[in-house]
Amino acid sequence: MSGDAVHGISCYSLVANSETAYDETLTFYQKLGFQKMAFFGISDTHNVRVCNNSVREDWLHVRGDSDGESATLKLRYVPGEFSLSPVSEETEWRGQKSSIVFYYPNLPELVKKFSAASIKFQSLPNEKKPDEIYVEDPLGNLVGFSDRYNPFAHANMKKSVESGVQSNMTSGTSTPLDSVKKATENVTTKAPGVKKKVAVMTSGGDAPGMNAAVRAVARYAIHRGCDAFAVYEGYEGLVQGGDMIRQLQWADVRGWLAEGGTLIGTARCMSFRERAGRLRAAKNLISAGIDSLIVCGGDGSLTGADLFRSDWPDLVQELEDTKAITVEQANLYRHLTIVGLVGSIDNDMSSTDVTIGAFSSLHRICEAVDSISSTAISHSRAFVVEVMGRHCGWLAVLAALATGADFVFVPERPAQVDKWQDEMCNALSAFRKQGKRKSIIIVAEGAIDSELNHISAEDIKKLLSERVHLDTRVTTLGHVQRGGIPCAYDRMLATLQGVDAVDAVLSSTPETPSPLIAINGNKINRKPLMEAVKLTHKVADAIEKKDFATAMDLRDPEFADYLHTWEGTTFIQDVNNFVAPEERMRVGIVHVGAPAGGMNSATRAAVRYCLNRGHTPLAIDNGFSGFLRHDSIHELSWIDVDEWCIRGGSEIGTNRDTPDLDMGHCAYKFQQHQIDGLIIVGGFEAFTALSQLEHARVNYPSFRIPMAIIPATISNNVPGTEFSLGCDTCLNSVMEYCDTIKQSASASRRRVFVCEVQGGKSGYVATVGGLITGASAIYTPEDGITLDMLRADIDHLKQTFAMEAGRNRAGQLILRNECASKVYTTDVIGDIISEEAHHRFSARTAIPGHVQQGGNPTPMDRARAARLAMRTIRFFENCRANNLGAETGSAAVIGIRGTGVTFTPVAEVESNETEIEQRRPKNAWWRGMHELVNILAGKTFSA
Ligand code: ADP
Repeated sequence: MSGDAVHGISCYSLVANSETAYDETLTFYQKLGFQKMAFFGISDTHNVRVCNNSVREDWLHVRGDSDGESATLKLRYVPGEFSLSPVSEETEWRGQKSSIVFYYPNLPELVKKFSAASIKFQSLPNEKKPDEIYVEDPLGNLVGFSDRYNPFAHANMKKSVESGVQSNMTSGTSTPLDSVKKATENVTTKAPGVKKKVAVMTSGGDAPGMNAAVRAVARYAIHRGCDAFAVYEGYEGLVQGGDMIRQLQWADVRGWLAEGGTLIGTARCMSFRERAGRLRAAKNLISAGIDSLIVCGGDGSLTGADLFRSDWPDLVQELEDTKAITVEQANLYRHLTIVGLVGSIDNDMSSTDVTIGAFSSLHRICEAVDSISSTAISHSRAFVVEVMGRHCGWLAVLAALATGADFVFVPERPAQVDKWQDEMCNALSAFRKQGKRKSIIIVAEGAIDSELNHISAEDIKKLLSERVHLDTRVTTLGHVQRGGIPCAYDRMLATLQGVDAVDAVLSSTPETPSPLIAINGNKINRKPLMEAVKLTHKVADAIEKKDFATAMDLRDPEFADYLHTWEGTTFIQDVNNFVAPEERMRVGIVHVGAPAGGMNSATRAAVRYCLNRGHTPLAIDNGFSGFLRHDSIHELSWIDVDEWCIRGGSEIGTNRDTPDLDMGHCAYKFQQHQIDGLIIVGGFEAFTALSQLEHARVNYPSFRIPMAIIPATISNNVPGTEFSLGCDTCLNSVMEYCDTIKQSASASRRRVFVCEVQGGKSGYVATVGGLITGASAIYTPEDGITLDMLRADIDHLKQTFAMEAGRNRAGQLILRNECASKVYTTDVIGDIISEEAHHRFSARTAIPGHVQQGGNPTPMDRARAARLAMRTIRFFENCRANNLGAETGSAAVIGIRGTGVTFTPVAEVESNETEIEQRRPKNAWWRGMHELVNILAGKTFSA
């Protein structure tokens, strides 16, 4: 080993239990470049025994050539000392046990040296381009070599920047990965020479996505050079210790992304609430060498976690005083790092917009309510559906909005005491008069009236049966809401937050307050854990004090907006809400481009809100060509659109034609039908259509009206927004499809599926799809495909299958965007892989095609659609009231940026944010995820 091979290691100690092992170890390290040290002036062959019960002792030393870096190794012979079990050669060594990691800049050279000396080694990710090499010393210790200057630094961040992957991350716009990036850049702590041991646990109520979080923590911790541990059964496991705290290896968490619940278990633990329980927990952690704990749970679990951290110094002191731990241990573990991840289906934690599990739970609720709807319509029944949420109405409100429910009861905005009965019965009777055959009422389990009286599902049923004479049934969804596979969003959120939790651990100091990993405005954030817990408890206190305004304020900013949207798009027009007669508009709604989930929900909400405000909603059927060729335009009524929120596709028809088919004729049609405002729902063609109309304003006065595009495309390639309607539905469809083919791949053993996904020239679906399905490689149009990439990915596959040695049945998945390369098509890639695999594994291709548009849209797409549509009508009203119809700003792209809804002039979006030829936005926020897909697949290089 050359002299510049050392960085960050200061001293470590090894113990041999026999003379033979001692000599072999001495020779082994001398071969690595260590030299015997003179010790206290003695420099003979065997330095004299100096301490404890060791019979022989040698000090070895190797010097680095920069900053005075050096490493010292103390080797002792202690008869009867236990010996380490050897690494299992069939699987990856890294992560099997603690290892000492050296900096070594020229790893290929090392590969040659080890091969020449017949020393067994394992290089990762492959032998051609190794990032890490591991050998086992004669004592069974794992010795690693890394070409990262600091073994704890992010792998090859420099290489990534050169390859363009990292540098493509946005600056300026918010991205969920920003904090991840910052944290990785900020790690300056020197490796202490001992691997950091990071434990993760799940606690409290289980939530879908917890496994994805554990997977991300384990893999990213291993990637960052740490040992990962799982504490099984929540705090119960921490208190019991022993086998309840186990090391997690890379392969242990394979396939966990798709699993619901928590595979490491959770339990309610009374003893952790007592100091004695926490004392045992502290002892167990220290015995396992763990000083960092990532807790994924609800507010109870996180309260416990914070208490544990504040107790920690006293607990350690007590353990030291009672000799339960040694002084050395006490000194090493004076500080405990705690990081919180919020796993809770209720979305009841303040400080974060969404919690892990909330959207999956919403999926379960909406699936159930959609199913109930068909039987309700058949029998003309009313259903009262009780959903979870003791102090939080998030699930109830979002479910009501997504399913088009007729009434909703939540704790934060309680129904007026003694009035709600009339309000509800009158509303439902009015809906029935319009021709509705079903009534759905969603009630949160903690629903109350303004005097804090509980409103139960049975109370509501009684009222509807007796006063409205409806055949009413109650359905309590209960634990169904906790179960099932995590949805796409939860997998993404849990993965990004798990990664950031590890970064938070590594950048933590004793002075840093315990962080909670949050998401605010589509950006992963760290918030003080204790403050978040306190704020959460404040909601319950505020409700108890009937301070409902404060309770609402403490919820995420979108919550109130969603509640208003439900109100604005549910009730029948009330003349008191109408705008002045001269401000009433005839609003045209047209769909352009391919169908995308949420198009109908947006139209429904626009129609309903128009009617509520006295406007006239007009459906333009079959896009601009239908309008121009067949004059297809008609008014829509409240009942016409009633069921549209749950339907996929496009009820009014859509195609790719734009108004430049015949601009003059289009202007004439606008004039003929006196259109005062136009909503275009669609993707990049819709964006182009709006731009054309805006440019044509100079010539045609009938286009001098407020116009807007509500982005809706599975490709998520409309500039001016972070999310288009339909992209969440698409990701969920791709995810389900990939889960299925991955299952098939694992059943057949050693199979790779190359799956072709849509997205045009935008790699969004491939990238996020890759992250949430655990793809081993993704190919996007932004990065293209090169032979080097293919070679590296095939090497990685070979290595993965070789390490599994046929025992692990997990299949491998590659996601290729349809436009990633003209030459390397999906079939070509499949063939190359099969050829190169030399029968060691096989490749198949799979193309989900139009399945990706999804069936029914996801709750997220439905809710977003309604919110955007209602805001668009308000935007039109504002333009009209201020006479802005001819201004540039009145032709806008309605976007979701962070938690806000934004209106950006189309001309501005076009010139500042668009790659016109590539039909995609500049600086897309999700680009940096490509790197993370590689990391979590076990590739530490940038393809
Ligand atoms: P959730 O985390 O889903 O809110 P719980 O409130 O049941 O679920 O909390 C889970 C576990 O966290 C409890 O069983 C207990 O072990 C621990 N815990 C909760 N609150 C505290 C507390 N105040 N002090 C110590 N431990 C607590």
